[in-house]
This record gives sequence, C-alpha cells and structure tokens, in this order.
Amino acid sequence: MSALLITGAAGFIGGHFTRLLSAARPQLKIVALDKLTYAGDLTAIRPLIDTGRIEFVHGDICDGPLVGRLLQQHTVRQIVNFAAETHVDRSIAAGSAFVMSNVVGVQVLLDAARRHGVERFIQISTDEVYGSLPEDRPDLKFTEDSPLLPNSPYSASKAAADCLVRAAFQTHHLPAIITRASNNYGPYQFPEKIIPLFVSNLLQGRRVPLYGDGLNIRDWLAVEDHCAALLRVLDDGRPGETYNIAGGHELTNRQLTEMILKAMNRSWDQSVELVADRPGHDRRYAVDSSKIERELHWRPHHDFKTAICRTIAWYVENEKWWREIQIRTSRSS
Ligand code: NAD
Repeated sequence: MSALLITGAAGFIGGHFTRLLSAARPQLKIVALDKLTYAGDLTAIRPLIDTGRIEFVHGDICDGPLVGRLLQQHTVRQIVNFAAETHVDRSIAAGSAFVMSNVVGVQVLLDAARRHGVERFIQISTDEVYGSLPEDRPDLKFTEDSPLLPNSPYSASKAAADCLVRAAFQTHHLPAIITRASNNYGPYQFPEKIIPLFVSNLLQGRRVPLYGDGLNIRDWLAVEDHCAALLRVLDDGRPGETYNIAGGHELTNRQLTEMILKAMNRSWDQSVELVADRPGHDRRYAVDSSKIERELHWRPHHDFKTAICRTIAWYVENEKWWREIQIRTSRSS
C-alpha cells in the first residue's frame, strides 16, 4: 500500500490538513513528519497518533537520509509540504533557520521525491511571496503570474522554495504544484500570531501591540477553507501549476483589533498599545483566486464574521492549550 507524507503536521495548518485528510480518505496511509520546533504541537493530531490512524515521525525535512528512508519504507507517492519557519518577526531577528527549513529542506524533499518516484508534490507557499500592494488601489490583486517580490526574510525564503519547486518540474518533470494562500485563522494557531496573541494578551490583562498606524491590510482565510482547497489541489490540481487561495475578506489590522476587542468586551483606550512598525512591513496583501475557483471548483464557504468570532471564542475557551505553550516556550528560550 502506498502512502502520503505530510510534513509540518504538528503545525497550525498541517494539523488541520492531517485531520481533514485522515477523515476524508479513511483508506489512505498517512505518514506525518515534524521537527517539533518551538511552533510544533501534537495536541490537534494526538488522537490520530494514539489510535494508529497516522504514523508520526519526529524529524527534520533537511535530514536527507531520514526523508529517503521514509519514502522508501512507506512507498510514499504523495507529499504535502507544510514544514517551515513561519513567523516574519523571527525571520527579521535571525534569518538562517528560515533558509535551512524553507529552502534547503524543500530541496532535500524534492531530491528524495524524484529519486523515489513521488507522483504528487504539493508545496504550501504564501501570498507574501508577491510582496506588497498599494492600499489605495483596491482593484489590484496578485495573480499566479505576478512577479515574486518578497520583502521579508520569511517571504524571501518561501519565494526561493517556489523557484526550486518550479525548477524540479521544469528540469525533472517532478509532478509538483504550488499553492499560495492568504492569512489563515482558526483554532490551534501558535500564540505568537496576531489573533491568538491579542486574545491571550487581553485575557492576561496585557495590552495588544499594534504595529505602526495599524492600517496594513491582510486577507483572511478560514483554515478549514484553506485545507479544503488543498484537498482539491491534491486530487485534481495540474502538475507545474500554481494556485492562489484567498479568503476574500480584507481587513486592516486596526479593524481586526476592533473585532477582537468587541468580541471580548474591551475598550480601545485601555487595551491597545501602538508600537513601532515592523521593518519592511508590507502594506497590503491580496490574491486573485479565480483560477482555483474556475479549474477546481473551490470557493471559501465559511461566513467570515461567524468564523472569526468562533476562532476568538476558541482561544478564550482553550486557555490551557496556549498557557502550556507559553510555559514550554519560555523554558526553552
Ligand atoms: P506553523 O509555524 O504553525 O507550523 C510549522 C510546522 O513545521 C511546525 O510544526 C514545525 O515544528 C514544523 N517544522 C519547521 N521546520 C521544520 C523542519 N525543518 N522539518 C520538519 N518540520 C519542521 O506554520 P503554519 O502557520 O501552519 O504554516 C504552514 C505552512 O503554510 C508554512 O509553509 C507557511 O509558509 C504556509 N502558510 C501559512 C499561512 C498562515 O497564515 N499561517 C498562510 C499561507 C501559507
């Protein structure tokens, strides 16, 4: 029996995708590989590991011999690569780990995939590889043909990986596909990202740090909608193609902050601290996802207001989850 390898399965989106895939394809053998960096947490996929539904391997995608052994031993025919360093602020502080996991690690996976006859390689990329759009041109959106103009070490490393994936298809005909999604939200996101960070700060009586003028615009995509799109790409995406995946809900960070404050019954004056802007902070991200809608008949289904309020409520109700992560992270730093 052949298998599908999910890398970064202990992360936010990888965990959701692992759960979706294991339910949607009950007969499929799934192997999950994760380095369990500070951002890795097994809570969301623990029941799948404990029941033997998936096989979890603790390891690094940069470890070529390990990756080769896994592909051979489990007859892996499909790879979905979520594994990455993902926090922009950390990439600004120190970029090397981003180059290792997001660039070198991807090449290791591509080489192994080619050697072991992998028939589908999905690279989970990001809308951030396109760089920034002007905020006063709401008519503009990036398409899959827009140039890659990354501005942070994180997005530069993801863009480099996209180039390597493209090269593996062009040079070696590796059946690889790239997806570029906008900002995800939902349960189990590491509490350094804006929504869980703001909710957990407020619950601990702290102010929320809002960068610059707070007018940077992000498009928000429910993680469940993202994972449903990835399932469509896995089944019917065309090798060599790239698919943008947008939520279709653009908000300034200020608007997002207001939504969180309203949901948690807090006032702006007592809760928000304007802090110096992030260096190179992209002003607006927006991708056109008409290609995946047209070709693969995918559309986001979650009602934005309901889903974002449910997400905020999840972090309020699951304080134990993020408190434990905070304790673990503070011990290891
Ligand atoms: P995350 O930080 O929550 O999880 C990343 C996971 O990868 C962690 O479990 C970590 O332990 C693992 N990992 C890191 N380096 C590894 C390595 N060398 N070998 C094996 N495992 C390793 O990230 P996320 O938010 O779930 O993002 C997953 C992917 O989706 C990333 O590639 C990211 O670039 C992309 N993406 C994220 C978003 C978003 O809004 N979060 C949007 C678009 C694209």
